[in-house]
Amino acid sequence: HLVLTDVHRHYGQGDKTVRVLEAANLSVASGELVALVAPSGAGKSTLLHLSGLLESPQSGEVELMGIKTSHLGDRGRTQLRRSTVGYVYQFHHLLPEFTALENVSMPQLIAGKSPAEADKRSMELLELLGIAARASHRPAELSGGEQQRVAIARAAANHPKVILADEPTGNLDPETSDIVFGALADLIKNEGAAALIATHNHDLARRADRIVTLKGGLVVDHTL
Ligand code: ATP
Ligand code: MG
Repeated sequence: HLVLTDVHRHYGQGDKTVRVLEAANLSVASGELVALVAPSGAGKSTLLHLSGLLESPQSGEVELMGIKTSHLGDRGRTQLRRSTVGYVYQFHHLLPEFTALENVSMPQLIAGKSPAEADKRSMELLELLGIAARASHRPAELSGGEQQRVAIARAAANHPKVILADEPTGNLDPETSDIVFGALADLIKNEGAAALIATHNHDLARRADRIVTLKGGLVVDHTL
């Protein structure tokens, strides 16, 4: 599970200060899918970065699978992130010189799996996401929706206990959005992961277990 307690995050200083999160509280249980719907600039990416230990709050606590992170050093944070978090970035970060299969296998190899084991898991995920036929394509040879699905497969590759996805269906047509979101939701349920997904798409958000938004630096319940 994922727990944020009284998390405060601002950027800049003086009259350039942007207060993004002020005493934000959020708890996502294992097996729960929470949608984060808020306007552009409200702090969705910030909240996900903090949850995924890509950034630190100025104060407050981020707890992943029962481990408090505020006192961890850089190495501890990196280790915990690698062992628990699967992250789908807002602007996907696939490695352009590697194939879809290699992109999904890479984090598994880093985690110590053999190439054969990693490729087997990768093919299963690509099949689940309906893009097995594109396994040997490089990102530039894939459509936007296919690239998003590779990014999702990569995020799920190491069986993460916490899945964070930042607008995983941004820039996709409604039909593809539906397929990609459905595939992501299935994966999350299969793995029993705690998932937080930022999305602008209200129809997709309704398929989550719970919807939250950001107001005045707080996380609040949201009904559409
Ligand atoms: P979008 O829907 O457009 O992706 P968002 O909800 O993800 O928006 P964030 O990226 O979290 O919004 O940004 C929240 C606010 O913090 C914005 O006003 C942004 O300008 C500001 N901000 C984010 N990162 C930084 C930074 N590194 N330095 C200064 N300000 C920042
Ligand atoms: Mg964002």
